[in-house]
Amino acid sequence: MVLKLYNTLTGKKEVFTPSKKEVLMYSCGPTVHDYAHIGNFRTFVFVDVLRRWLEYRGYDVKLVMNITDIDEKTIERARRKRMELKEVTKKYADAFFDDLRVLNIKSARFYPRASEHIRDMAGIASQLLKNGRAFKADDGTVYFDITKAAGYGTLSRKEVNKHVRARTKREDYDVPKHFALWKSKDDMDGGFFFETELGRGRPSWHLECCTMAMKYLGPQLDIHTGGLDLIFPHHENSAAVSEAITGRTFVKYWIHVSLLKVNGKKMSKTLRNYFTLRDILKKGYSPMAIRLILLSNYREELNFTFEKLDESEKKMQKLNNFLKSCSKERGIKAGREIEEEFENAMDDDLDIKKALNIIFKVIDAGRPTKEVGEIILKFNKVLGILVEESK
Ligand SMILES: [Zn+2]
Repeated sequence: MVLKLYNTLTGKKEVFTPSKKEVLMYSCGPTVHDYAHIGNFRTFVFVDVLRRWLEYRGYDVKLVMNITDIDEKTIERARRKRMELKEVTKKYADAFFDDLRVLNIKSARFYPRASEHIRDMAGIASQLLKNGRAFKADDGTVYFDITKAAGYGTLSRKEVNKHVRARTKREDYDVPKHFALWKSKDDMDGGFFFETELGRGRPSWHLECCTMAMKYLGPQLDIHTGGLDLIFPHHENSAAVSEAITGRTFVKYWIHVSLLKVNGKKMSKTLRNYFTLRDILKKGYSPMAIRLILLSNYREELNFTFEKLDESEKKMQKLNNFLKSCSKERGIKAGREIEEEFENAMDDDLDIKKALNIIFKVIDAGRPTKEVGEIILKFNKVLGILVEESK
């Protein structure tokens, strides 16, 4: 079977054919203003499994994940804590990398930080001003003109109104508007700005992501991933900027991960159902049980509950016990059909639920031969739920 992935751009499952053997993949990374929560990790674990599956299928994966270390949230945090912006972002970026290791997530090739690419970003905005694809408002803010982007709205299936205006803080975020590329100093209340050819200011998140994607991966990516909530406006805007610069389609396959809810509700601090990875580890749960619960079919909403996490803990024990009981001697030859079943499930838009069921069905069959143990370890290269595995 061939790998099929659901492409948000076309709204269909499509056969995955990258441009080269090296798959160019970009994933929106964390904003380092706080510890990442389990909803964030749902996406990062999925990205890891997708990358591992592509590697299993023989591709080299050049994965780039940005670190958003200059935006409204990081600035707000620094101001509130009366800390230097760099201190805040270093603290939470370090914590993020620790969390990735805890969850057995393989490293990306590059983790570019927005604050280290300001000149590149200003350069892109200047180029767009020069070729008439952007305009400068009276306050110095540079906006991308969406009415000049022919494909604008294709990804998020939104129609561009002829009377589109620049976005202000109070306006509806769900409606297509000209969006800021470069925010002038006047648009910020604080001292967090850079001096560039565009004057004082800082880049917008949309400009940050697509500048770094183009810099590290070139004009066209095979895969771009992120949470479902990033389709609009973030991904629509990133694609518009890149396409206005290169004249090429920015991304061949847009893959979006659905949301995570806790006890059936959206996570929120006021509902007291908001958990960082660290909150859950403090309750005594094992990292691999947490990884296992986050492994689910990415297009379905995931409902996180502690009951499910308890079950996940038991499953991990069962899996580990089974592997320990696998004999050292050669036994009944494990069928190639188990492998095929697993591979077909993963090739079908990463049907992780089915893939996991196959493993537990094998365990329930209760024949711990050396060969069965080996097959499970091979599957683990993709799922990454066994800590013994070396990265
Ligand atoms: Zn992004």
